[in-house]
Formats: sequence, structure tokens, C-alpha cells
Amino acid sequence: MTIFLTPKLETVLPKIKAIVQDQIIPLEADFLQHNFSKVKPKLEAIRQLVKQEGLWNPHLSSAHGGLGLSLVEFGQISEVLGHTPYGHYCFNCNAPDIGNQELILGNASEHIKDTFLAPLLKGNIRSCFSMTEPEFAGSNPTEMDTSAVKDGDNYIINGHKWFTSSADGASFAVVMANTNPDAENKYQRASMIVVPTDTKGFELVCNIPVMGEANDDYFSHGEVRYTNCKVPLKNLIGIEGAGFSLAQQRLGPGRIHHCMRWIGICERAFDLMCKHAASRDLGNGVKLGQKQSIQNFIAESRAEINAARFMVLHTALKIDNEGAKAARIEISTIKFYVANVLQRVLDRAVQTHGALGLTDYTVLSFWYRHERAARIYDGPDEVHKAALARQILKGYGLNTKVV
Ligand SMILES: Cc1cc2nc3c(=O)[nH]c(=O)nc-3n(C[C@H](O)[C@H](O)[C@H](O)COP(=O)(O)OP(=O)(O)OC[C@H]3O[C@@H](n4cnc5c(N)ncnc54)[C@H](O)[C@@H]3O)c2cc1C
Repeated sequence: MTIFLTPKLETVLPKIKAIVQDQIIPLEADFLQHNFSKVKPKLEAIRQLVKQEGLWNPHLSSAHGGLGLSLVEFGQISEVLGHTPYGHYCFNCNAPDIGNQELILGNASEHIKDTFLAPLLKGNIRSCFSMTEPEFAGSNPTEMDTSAVKDGDNYIINGHKWFTSSADGASFAVVMANTNPDAENKYQRASMIVVPTDTKGFELVCNIPVMGEANDDYFSHGEVRYTNCKVPLKNLIGIEGAGFSLAQQRLGPGRIHHCMRWIGICERAFDLMCKHAASRDLGNGVKLGQKQSIQNFIAESRAEINAARFMVLHTALKIDNEGAKAARIEISTIKFYVANVLQRVLDRAVQTHGALGLTDYTVLSFWYRHERAARIYDGPDEVHKAALARQILKGYGLNTKVV
């Protein structure tokens, strides 16, 4: 469902929908049986087609070879790409690359742009983002331990990270490390530094098994050790101590991308649920969809998806008009709300399919496993709910100091 159909979207959306429907979705069965790396060569052909059609990097400005869309417009493209697990990958706007591209474009030196961004934008390499550490609470990353110490013209990086998504096969990592550990303001201690993954001392310890899957390549979550990794000072993004403010910048639009992708997943799950409800015969000619409990699933899901879409696009509009900082509370609100809608819709779709819903004969069980993480990454539900409630209670004069 496209709500804000602009002239630009009118031109590109039908083409994008056709590629998703006719080229990418037919490959899903293959993907659900094999690791990502096995399907990758087939996806390469689609990536070439996307380039030929002039749809590559849809999130970027025209000056950088993209479609020059607003966040509201790109959000609606992200929804369509979300209908299948590798829609975003085929258009080069998948996380974490999209976040790294936007981060580098907005804040990095020409050296970083030429060396790392240029091949990333062409789709010749992949990247990853390395902040969370197993020994420290990721929801409060100011506590992290990774250090980057100056040594002549270089930083020497030491640390232990995990859940560095897509690290397997990535050419570089954007690493969050403490460069200014003595800064009084704890939000000014860390910096973001680009570390090529072929740097001596960069070690991908393993791809962490997640939800019963040994994910590889783009779908991997790496445990990574940095042992005396030496990288030039010029690999710093922005200025020293700016890590957390850059992380905020990176996450604002990123949450719109994620939420609209989740709405795309919801729509696909909803469609599968309705098709199954309309066709599954319970005996004596009674169809599943004639049962009220299943009708409730359908009605509740429709209402929740519609509400979620409006909330996300409203937030995107605010970011477009006033910037991500002004929309912080809206961003927190959609992050937990849409992640929960996603989980409820997927659960109902799986339930409606019965045993079939648990197999890999439909895409539902992949998403059911894979998207449980939506309530945890980019800030767990509880953190975003607290941020929203604190802001509201402030208006009622309650001391909102975190306890
Ligand atoms: C699939 C996936 C992909 C990820 N990708 C990346 C990546 O690419 N790069 C990267 O650096 N990190 C990544 N992460 C890590 C992610 O950012 C962290 O998992 C997240 O920030 C939460 O940190 P934690 O797991 O250490 O949980 P903790 O901080 O230990 O929190 C545990 C639980 O405690 C509760 N909790 C936490 N804080 C509060 C609070 N203030 N009030 C109430 N309850 C609270 C929440 O329920 C939370 O789930 C990824 C995680 C997942 C699951």
C-alpha cells in the first residue's frame, strides 16, 4: 500500500515491484534451503539488472548516483523491498551497508570516501559495523572496552566485539573504540574508525549461531577480536570523541529503513495468511477463513499494519522536515511499536498455516526466527519505551532521572 505516491515514486515503484515479484521472490525456495553464499551468484545477476534499470542505490541523492528521494519516498521503497529477505541486498541498500554509506558520505574524509565508500557504492564490497561487546551491556554502549591508542600516524586497536552483522566477507568494519577514555562526558570518549578486515590482528572468531541457524556471509553475525590492529589516523570518521553523536545520526534514518522493511514483511506474511485462510479446507467444505478466530487474526493484523505504516511515515516526514534530532521521540516510538506489530503478525501467519508454518516451505518460519531480533537490536523495546515515557512524564513535572 503506497500512501504518499509522488511523481518520482510513480515512475520507479512499479519497476521495483516487478523486480521483487518476478526476479527475487522466485529465488526464495533456493535461499531457504541453502546458506546465503550459495544463492549469491544468482543474486548477482539481479543486481546487474537493477543497475541497468537505473534503480541502484535508491536511498542516495542524485548527486551520488541514487534516486534523490526523500525519506518518506525511500521508506515506501523499503517496504516493497521488505517483501523478500534479500530485496534490499539486490538494490545495495541493505543494513549495515546503507548505514555505513550514509555515515561516511556525511562525515568522512575524501581518503575514506575514495578508498572505502566508492567500492561500497558500486556493490563491489560489503562492510560491517562493530560496536557491541559480549562483556558489556549493548544497551549502554558507553561502558564498552575497545580502545584505539595513538602511535605515531596510527591507531592501535584492541577489543572484543560480537554481533558484528555481516562481518563474514566484509572488506571493512566501522569500529567504535575509546580514543578519549578520560573525557569527562562519557558520550565523548569513543570514536568511529574504519578498519579493513585484512588488517593484521583483525580476527573473525566465528559466525555466531543464531536461532538454530549457522548464518554466513551477508546474514552472519560475527564475533570479532581486534588485537593490536594498526590503522592510519586518517581512517577516523569525523573527529575524535564524536562516536556517539555519529551513532545517533546513523540510527535515526536507519530506524525508518528497518521499520518500513518490517512493514513489508508484515504485508507479505499477511498475504500468505489470507491466501491460506481462503484456501485451506477444514472438511465438509468449510474453509479456515470462515472461522472467527482466523478472521480476528486477519482484522487485527490489517489494522495494526496500517497504523504502523502511518506512524513510520509520519516520523519520516518529521525527519525530512526538521532533522533526526527533532524526531527522537517518534523514532523511539516506532522502533518498539512496529517491532511488536511485526512479531504479532508473523505469529498469526505461522499459526494460520499450522505445521506448514514451521517448515521452510514458506518464508514465514525464516522471518519468525530471524526477526525476533527486531525487539533487541538498535535498542531493546524497554529502552525505547522508557525514553518515550520519560519524555511524556517530564511534561507532568515528574523527575525523569534514570534509576
Ligand atoms: C540480530 C542482531 C544484529 C545485531 N547487529 C549488530 C551490529 O551489526 N553491530 C553491533 O555493534 N551490534 C549489533 N547488535 C547488537 C545489539 O545492538 C545489542 O544486542 C543491543 O544493543 C542490546 O544489547 P545487549 O544484547 O548487550 O543486551 P543488554 O544491554 O545486556 O540488555 C539485555 C536486556 O535487558 C533489558 N534492558 C536493557 N536495558 C534496559 C533498561 N534501561 N531498562 C529496562 N530493561 C533494559 C532488555 O530487555 C534487553 O534485551 C545486533 C544484535 C542482534 C540481536
